[in-house]
Amino acid sequence: MRIANHHGRAVLQHGDSWYDVEAVTGGQYSSDPRTLVGQLDQLAEWKETAELNGAHAVDIERFGPPVPDPVQIFAIGLNYRAHAEETGSEIPDYPVVFTKFQTSIAGSTDEVKLPADTVDWEAELVVVIGKEAHQVEPADALSYVAGYMNGQDFSERRLQNRGAKPQFSLAKSYPGFSPVGPYLVTLDELDDPNDLAITTTLVKDGGETELAQNSRTSDLIFDVPTLVSELSKVVKLVPGDLIFTGTPSGVGLGRTPKMFLQPGWRVQTEIEGLGRMDNPVQ
Ligand code: ZN
Repeated sequence: MRIANHHGRAVLQHGDSWYDVEAVTGGQYSSDPRTLVGQLDQLAEWKETAELNGAHAVDIERFGPPVPDPVQIFAIGLNYRAHAEETGSEIPDYPVVFTKFQTSIAGSTDEVKLPADTVDWEAELVVVIGKEAHQVEPADALSYVAGYMNGQDFSERRLQNRGAKPQFSLAKSYPGFSPVGPYLVTLDELDDPNDLAITTTLVKDGGETELAQNSRTSDLIFDVPTLVSELSKVVKLVPGDLIFTGTPSGVGLGRTPKMFLQPGWRVQTEIEGLGRMDNPVQ
């Protein structure tokens, strides 16, 4: 299934059409996006035998973040080998975990205001938790996952390295720094959820494009089942929680000379099977 947020209400794709979840199910399932994320197994069962009537005219460009108000947002640093190397960091032997704050969440076409001239891009596979998970084993972990989305972990590098130690959470939580979407995709829609192409394309002045990041999620050092399991050993995960799983190589910080986003550019993020985000920066 594909689930999106249309003006604050959850909509479900069937064929080429989108349906308001609460209306099409006669009120059985919620159109509150975060509530619905905890009901997707049941909704999928309902959909198998249901007749869907009353398609909704939607503009996919206007979809909001599929989960606009997650209770917890985790992010993982240095989770692709080549990215750890390009930043001069050691390959981690335990996930590097930080948080992104909720007010940084944005939709897949929302404009991002650059607070500095040192803002970087980081394409990331974002995991959406669908069931309460505490102390789950890697072998069971994917059954707690509602689906995947595209994400960007925009990062203000000067602030990130301003203190005595790098601080990720603040530098990655300006408004608009966590766009996700355009929709949530359940894992059954993906040929191999563990091996998806992931790219960032920069569209510069005059329309010149540059493929800045180009990798596969099979290169993750700590894969999705490991991350869900390790986080759940400590924290109780709840439906709608997000995990930004880390970025591959090709960020601006890793270049010589360094390169950062310029006003007027667009950042396009695409993961195989998850649609595409296209965020202008100003
Ligand atoms: Zn990141």
